[in-house]
Amino acid sequence: MSDTPSNKRTELAQLGEFGLIDHLTSDIKPMNSTTLKGVGDDAAVIDQGDYVTLVSKDLLAEGVHFDLSYTPLKHLGYKAAVVNISDICAMNGKTEQLLVGISVSNRFSVEALDELYAGIKLACEKYKVDLVGGDTTSSASGLFISVTVIGRAKKDEVVYRNTARENDLICVSGDLGAAYMGLLLLEREKQVFKANPGMQPDLDGYDYVLERQLKPEARVDILEKLKEAGIKPTAMIDISDGLASEVLHLAKDSGLGCRIFENKLPIDVVTGDVAAEFRIDPTTAAMNGGEDYELLFTVNINDFDKVKEMPGIHVIGHMLEKAEGEYLISNGGSLYPIEAQGFNHMRED
Ligand code: ADP
Ligand code: MG
Repeated sequence: MSDTPSNKRTELAQLGEFGLIDHLTSDIKPMNSTTLKGVGDDAAVIDQGDYVTLVSKDLLAEGVHFDLSYTPLKHLGYKAAVVNISDICAMNGKTEQLLVGISVSNRFSVEALDELYAGIKLACEKYKVDLVGGDTTSSASGLFISVTVIGRAKKDEVVYRNTARENDLICVSGDLGAAYMGLLLLEREKQVFKANPGMQPDLDGYDYVLERQLKPEARVDILEKLKEAGIKPTAMIDISDGLASEVLHLAKDSGLGCRIFENKLPIDVVTGDVAAEFRIDPTTAAMNGGEDYELLFTVNINDFDKVKEMPGIHVIGHMLEKAEGEYLISNGGSLYPIEAQGFNHMRED
């Protein structure tokens, strides 16, 4: 394809991933009244009367999102399904169907693709999702996996990103930063193995962070707990790009500012140990690591007594009016602006 008619050429890196999405989609206005939500949330929301259909899609590219030298294909298939199911969770919905597109080079055997599908099917079984279609093509090189998920929710149960309110509490499920530490370990062992092919990887004691990287889960259990407790989050997003990036989405899309407290961030001891080994501040891992697939949500302050007692849920901050900006309050009491560093594959930093 040639350049644009004016011969103007803008590098993708100038816009970054979010800038590019905004550039391509900001002029799109839904024409169908059934399109309740188009671009701009974890899933699109389609009106079906008293319930809605939720649709989301994620594309994984070899060499960008996964490295097959340390990612078993079965794990990759599982993860490809789970990260999509997580987006439906982030809308407070239940995933019911998924479609799988693969583009695959002749470097892969039938047995290899069987492994990939074993992982996808395992996730489908665990989350009670039906694999209902997809597409298969050859690729010039490498493997691409595109999963589309379809979910369902009652109309009044859907939770958007842009509906947090001033003084709402900011909560997160599980713990943060572990998946990134797992990735650093796997990358390190890959380099060691390249230099000394005879050496066995030394990954004893690191199971937790490796599992968080290779086998994430979608937090359907947290949605159930919230429902049982009678709590409907006021806004919600899943953490794929790191807490910093996601909390900025919640705040900016809701037209608010926020405060996150460093001493409230849930970080597993193994994550802390690995961070120390890599001389990385665990807070940086938690804020910018990404791929935790935990849920980040806001609740009304009146729900504080309920959420503070719930295992697996941590209150880490609160929303404020927009003029207050978005800041992390460090253990020492200093304010640091929250900046999205996340996994912005297209941006040169
Ligand atoms: P998530 O991290 O939850 O998967 P993304 O950051 O990938 O979400 O996407 C943000 C929003 O932009 C979503 O509504 C998504 O559907 C939309 N989007 C992403 N890429 C494109 C694209 N190429 N064209 C149109 N919409 C897109
Ligand atoms: Mg998401």
